[in-house]
Amino acid sequence: MSEFDYDLYVIGAGSGGVRASRIAAGHGARVAICEDSRVGGTCVIRGCVPKKLMSYAAHFAEDIEDAAGFGWQIGETRFDWPRFLQRKNAEIDRLNQIYLKLLANSGVTLHEGQGRLLNAHTVEVAGRQYTAEKILIAVGGRPVKPEFPGHELSLTSDDIFYIETLPRRMVIIGGGYIAVEFAGIFNALGSEVHLLYRGEQILRGFDADVRRTLAREMAAKGVHIHLHAEVQAVEKKGEERVVHLNTGETLSVDTVLCATGRVPRTEGLGLDKAGVYVNEKGEIPVDHDSKTNVANIFAVGDVTGRIALTPVAIQEGHAFADTQFGNKPWCPSHENVPSAVFSQPPVASVGLTEGEAHTLHESLDIYLSEFRPLKHTLSGREEKTLMKLVVCRETDRVLGCHMVGPDAPEIMQGVAIAIQCGATKAQFDATVGIHPTAAEELVTMRTPARSGH
Ligand code: NDP
Repeated sequence: MSEFDYDLYVIGAGSGGVRASRIAAGHGARVAICEDSRVGGTCVIRGCVPKKLMSYAAHFAEDIEDAAGFGWQIGETRFDWPRFLQRKNAEIDRLNQIYLKLLANSGVTLHEGQGRLLNAHTVEVAGRQYTAEKILIAVGGRPVKPEFPGHELSLTSDDIFYIETLPRRMVIIGGGYIAVEFAGIFNALGSEVHLLYRGEQILRGFDADVRRTLAREMAAKGVHIHLHAEVQAVEKKGEERVVHLNTGETLSVDTVLCATGRVPRTEGLGLDKAGVYVNEKGEIPVDHDSKTNVANIFAVGDVTGRIALTPVAIQEGHAFADTQFGNKPWCPSHENVPSAVFSQPPVASVGLTEGEAHTLHESLDIYLSEFRPLKHTLSGREEKTLMKLVVCRETDRVLGCHMVGPDAPEIMQGVAIAIQCGATKAQFDATVGIHPTAAEELVTMRTPARSGH
């Protein structure tokens, strides 16, 4: 009989924690998990899933407009935000129930409440103490706001999923994933959207052509993108929020959304009691087995500061459980991780950007195609799709693929497999296209747009 109550105690029932606990239990471990909010975590409850549902809702606006070019006569249309909210919330409730069932069916014990470490083997939840041989920290992150005066008048992504009325005019601060996604959603739903970004161009870290193309297309759809824009203060005037910018300009809106990044949720976790090292950003550094500096304490997901994406957290959690409890050691891969931004139009990428590739490789061939998709010949929309391949001239390997345009996330998943397998440009060229699609462009780009060192 073990000296501990459990073989594994998981703190945080989000994507990484739930996967790790279910897999560990499947390997025969006695597992408990605690959660202080709703089981499912950021992705399911207040992130990827409700955001994607909002993105679908928003896209109908354009689909309805485009239909006219194909002969459809559609009468007056109206978007009902409360109705959408109610349907979206019901779906999130359903998913939450599924997650609860998954845990129960795998034999994982759920404790409701915030977990706090008392030492390297003891977790306290809701006044009760539990001991475990191994502990997994999977607490994720939380949104942060800049410290400008009046920041308490602004919302974060946690709040925006529940606002009761659709904003008439809104300011979104930030130029990352969350900012551009919500800018596209609310603009399409009819709000006047001002996106304020402090830097040179939105989506820092993405390929330069992608950033330029997305900014152009978002602006064409009506999003007001203010670059080099910083908020000095927000003040309340009646029902309005007046946003003061560094340029001296003011914007009167009814909603201000801060999409200015997320930080690990490590406060109040008792990490010091267990001797777990936390870096200056609040992240818990781990090794390739997701092990912290304390031999029996592990961490996966956003809290580790590796890559803040759900499928990455899931892989990390799965690898941890197989390695520690299933006698099947493997490490999650953090290379060639594809990602998508569900902007309007969407962006998807895998591998190196042109800029990154230049720092690592002697010479490159850049294949670039910008075209009007077939659908828009009749819809009349001017929107252009961008596709780009970054190729190492020496080895012919495709180092990166980047796309802005409809279905980019769906297309990129398959390309990610090819790039993960080390595919060469010659192998892309030898692949037969599917006609007529946008994706076939990826196997028909023959002449580099530029080559260079
Ligand atoms: P990001 O880090 O992607 O973007 C934060 C943005 O806010 C950046 O443009 C940043 O500017 C800006 N910013 C940061 N601090 C300040 C400040 N003090 N004042 C003004 N602007 C500021 O964070 P998000 O919040 O958008 O998303 C968090 C993470 O969640 C993402 O990085 C991603 O990993 C994940 N995510 C993934 C999604 C997906 O897969 N589709 C969707 C949503 C989130 P600068 O560039 O200058 O630093």
